[in-house]
Amino acid sequence: FLEINQIRKSFGEGDNRVEVLKGIDLAIEKGEFCVLLGASGSGKSTLLNIIGGIDSADSGDICIRGARLADMSEKRLTLYRRNHLGYIFQMYNLIPNLTVQENIEVGAYLSDHPLDVQELLHTLGLQEHRNKLPNQLSGGQQQRTAIGRAVVKNPDILLCDEPTGALDYHTSKEILKLIETVNRKYGNTIIMVTHNDAIKDMADRVVRLRDGTIMKNYANEHRVPAEKLEW
Ligand code: ATP
Ligand code: MG
Repeated sequence: FLEINQIRKSFGEGDNRVEVLKGIDLAIEKGEFCVLLGASGSGKSTLLNIIGGIDSADSGDICIRGARLADMSEKRLTLYRRNHLGYIFQMYNLIPNLTVQENIEVGAYLSDHPLDVQELLHTLGLQEHRNKLPNQLSGGQQQRTAIGRAVVKNPDILLCDEPTGALDYHTSKEILKLIETVNRKYGNTIIMVTHNDAIKDMADRVVRLRDGTIMKNYANEHRVPAEKLEW
């Protein structure tokens, strides 16, 4: 479904040139929940951004349903990002003067096949907050809104870069449960970057980067529900 072949990426010029991704190979199946681990600076966000078409690789290719990203025109790439990709970051980046519901509707507006906004508000436990502005929400509620904005498109692939990085234990767990619910309910393929080793247990696939190479990549046969994770 998602194939990543020999992805290389360097930053900087001349003597300052650093190779951040040194030939990454990875295959992820449709609907798989993949967790991407690795120390700070190991290249996790860089890889996610390349998969998301936000950044481009120096060499190698990425195929989604057999289509190479590199072969897509700028227009097609834009459509692909709008319709097939959802992004959730550590920082929520909500639009401050739009309500919860309107922030989610922005995501729906961008998509050709959006989910029902009211149903999603319900799934995310945001119904009672739907008319609030972001600055009237807790961090967890803001992140739930950001999940809504990404998921309302019903994207094939949901990319999450440390979605719980700014949240406390209890709220992190709540957010992980929601991402799990989304994966099971809508069947989106998820790649989630995290610093937290314990979170790997809730994934179908665990990938560990070190210094720009994959040092581990295995299927987890016994997925543990987010609710039961302890860390
Ligand atoms: P963290 O866990 O801290 O988020 P990460 O694994 O996501 O780390 P990346 O953000 O992918 O790491 O960065 C990998 C390396 O690439 C780092 O050494 C970083 O300094 C470098 N890097 C990332 N983006 C750029 C850029 N735009 N220009 C120059 N160097 C960059
Ligand atoms: Mg990062």
